[in-house]
Amino acid sequence: MSRIVVIGAGVGGLAAALRLARAGHRVVVHERSPAAGGKLGHYVRDGFAFDTGPSLLTLPQVFEDLDLGLRPQPLDPVVRHVFPDGSVLDSSSSHEEFVARIADAFGAAAADDWQRFWARAERTWAASWRSVLRRPVTPATLAGLSWRVRDLAAIAPGRSLRGLGRAYLRDRRLRMLLDRYATYTGADPRRAPAALAAVPYAELAFGGWYLPGGLGTLADALLARCAEAGVEVMVDSAVTAIETGPRSAAGGGAAAHTAGAGGAVTGVRLASGAVEPADVVVADVDAATVYRDLLPTPRRLAGLADRSLAGFVLLLGVRGSTPELAHHTVFFPDHYDAEFDAVFGDPGRGVRARPPDDPAVFVTRAVDDAVHPPGAEAWFVLVNAPPHGTGWSAVDWRRPGLAEAYRDHILAVLARRGPDVRDRLVFAEVRTPADLADATAAPGGAIYGTAGGLLRPANRGPVGGLWLVGGSAHPGGGLPMVTLSARIVADQIGPA
Ligand SMILES: Cc1cc2nc3c(=O)[nH]c(=O)nc-3n(C[C@H](O)[C@H](O)[C@H](O)COP(=O)(O)OP(=O)(O)OC[C@H]3O[C@@H](n4cnc5c(N)ncnc54)[C@H](O)[C@@H]3O)c2cc1C
Repeated sequence: MSRIVVIGAGVGGLAAALRLARAGHRVVVHERSPAAGGKLGHYVRDGFAFDTGPSLLTLPQVFEDLDLGLRPQPLDPVVRHVFPDGSVLDSSSSHEEFVARIADAFGAAAADDWQRFWARAERTWAASWRSVLRRPVTPATLAGLSWRVRDLAAIAPGRSLRGLGRAYLRDRRLRMLLDRYATYTGADPRRAPAALAAVPYAELAFGGWYLPGGLGTLADALLARCAEAGVEVMVDSAVTAIETGPRSAAGGGAAAHTAGAGGAVTGVRLASGAVEPADVVVADVDAATVYRDLLPTPRRLAGLADRSLAGFVLLLGVRGSTPELAHHTVFFPDHYDAEFDAVFGDPGRGVRARPPDDPAVFVTRAVDDAVHPPGAEAWFVLVNAPPHGTGWSAVDWRRPGLAEAYRDHILAVLARRGPDVRDRLVFAEVRTPADLADATAAPGGAIYGTAGGLLRPANRGPVGGLWLVGGSAHPGGGLPMVTLSARIVADQIGPA
């Protein structure tokens, strides 16, 4: 049995803690904030209940062996897409149904294009599932012989998602729909790898799901199972440093990987000053923070992909009902690229990041009595935004008046494209990237840690006994991916 400390009670940290405790280890989780869940946040006001982070659950099979007792409900449509020309396309987890809807909305040629794209996306998904998502990936394995030639062709490392869309989809609206999936991994579709074709495949082949009561119930279920398995979760308990020493791997048994020149973990230092000894440390903290701030000497982080985009969120209490909304509805702008220019900035072209003028607006409104008072609706509105900070690719979201002005702007954009809720508001709360950074220690409030790419920081840390889980490490952000990272790490550590 090893003594294992998990830093951070996000979904990746809790899932790792649960697996490791069930494998017989003694596990303690330290979480700096007052509640567990991390970005999977929950907020209640005046009888309205909101998920402040994730609103769409995909790949529910990834959670099955955690035995969480979840009852996911399938969504149809998974997402309603409203285009600037007024056309509407509802996505479906039935491929035949989706193709029929594309034919109805955009014509037979567009439906044929989607069929061809779908065959390609299926190959990409199969290759990713086989070679990337369930095992550790390092530069050596990516470049190595373990790749089948067919898998490499399906993943097409040199091509962008935008390039793939251009090659397969003639209808501009289908290309916009595909571009949007890059942003679900935090990336700019013009730079994101074509391998992200696996994302729409995963969403539409395995469905989009809702958890009654809100997705926050996933964190509750993880916490309850952790308690049953004997995991101790300490909230308001920030880790300020990872302690290392020359200890040999023998101290950690199978759990500690070879100490090597960098030494090995011996424990963690808490904000109280106390040191908690550990044979193994699993960090559910942003990889850049682990390497730069938590280790005794800062390390260079190889394979750090681009930073993910952030999100500007409105939590709206709304009177009455809005039948034109599906559970998830996205309202697209006329010039989608202007949004990417604004969100990501481009110093090479002299383009500074700024809140996009005319962004795609994503509205989530659950039909679930548990999340709103009678005769009302709880809306979660999300637009992509630059992270909080200074420099070309960030925005100072703390600038006085900015958040309120942008809230009013987004409500006006929404009114132009779809429902005008301005005279039906009970309240309109704002969560900026700076708020997310404060709440979860995500640098700049980036949603997914590192943006979708093939090579993210490895799960194996730079000193013996240190492992990384969560959205900034392999295989990436999003609830199923961070849960897969927990499985990869627990498998590598092994049973007690
Ligand atoms: C607005 C928004 C929308 C999203 N939409 C979706 C969606 O629809 N579907 C989906 O699948 N995913 C979505 N995501 C992404 C998803 O929420 C994340 O990928 C996932 O929850 C991240 O889990 P994680 O394990 O990386 O940990 P995080 O949630 O990042 O949690 C890390 C935890 O570590 C704690 N911590 C940090 N530093 C320390 C320290 N020094 N000591 C102790 N504790 C520390 C933090 O307080 C935090 O609780 C969304 C995220 C956001 C913000």
